[in-house]
Amino acid sequence: MAPHSGLTDDALDARLKELAATERNAQAEQLALLAEFDVRGLPEAAGYPGLYDYCVKDLGLSEGAAYERVRAARATTRWPQVAEDFRAGKLSLAAVCVLAPLLNDDTAEELLAEARGLGRREAEELAASLYPTADGEDAVEPAPTGRRERERIRALSAERVQFAFTGSTELRRDIERARGLLWHKDPSGRLEAVVGALADFYLDREDPDRRLGRAVRAPAAERPAPANSRLVPQEVKDEVWLRDGGRCAYVSPEGRRCEAGAGLEYDHIVPWVFGGRSDSAVNIRLLCRMHNKAAARGAELGEG
Ligand SMILES: [Zn+2]
Repeated sequence: MAPHSGLTDDALDARLKELAATERNAQAEQLALLAEFDVRGLPEAAGYPGLYDYCVKDLGLSEGAAYERVRAARATTRWPQVAEDFRAGKLSLAAVCVLAPLLNDDTAEELLAEARGLGRREAEELAASLYPTADGEDAVEPAPTGRRERERIRALSAERVQFAFTGSTELRRDIERARGLLWHKDPSGRLEAVVGALADFYLDREDPDRRLGRAVRAPAAERPAPANSRLVPQEVKDEVWLRDGGRCAYVSPEGRRCEAGAGLEYDHIVPWVFGGRSDSAVNIRLLCRMHNKAAARGAELGEG
């Protein structure tokens, strides 16, 4: 006999509702605690590039769950109503996640009222109906095998175009890698920025019109940096990149090495303004944005 086969139908129903409420309460508390943890800068202090990595690596959440919770936690910090509605079961985590980017002081009250009881799909429809010209989120999704998907380029408005195509998992890996390397120039991480940078790079090399245009500017652009420059020469960057393994070199006081491979910056260990050198790998290290900012604030950092 199954362990719960002795329960009456009503008792089964009541117990399930009780558990759902318990789970919602636990999640609401988790969001509040995550928000506070984030505000105190504790993920960075523990050697993570941010709250998301802490959720995945220390709390063991899936990437999707971590993404939703980070977004929702930040929304609850700004709009306490989100936390209340969520705890009361009026607002789903998925709806918070979809609508969070659209909330502002003018829209929050009305939007939250409309979002009550909505699941992800319905929240997405609500967002699209309110902001019909919005580009929407980038989406990278597994495609069914064996069926050839048609490529699609569709105008959304006079200025904006939507692209859809199917590619290999290797291409996805390459794009994710490019996204990580591009992070310091474009922290939005949008595919538009990544694909735009790749197209630029290719056209700079292969497009005769661009090559000729560049030849005119080349002498100024390629002038070597002056001797006592803040700029780190490419050969020093290469040496540092290899030494630090293409990862943030921050080590927490407990000895945890930050594993961030995205948004890396070349940091002067002795700041350049205090005479720290740019032309020696000894004084340069790789840091992610969070740890570079922490270093700049003069926070206590372990040396990698
Ligand atoms: Zn880091």
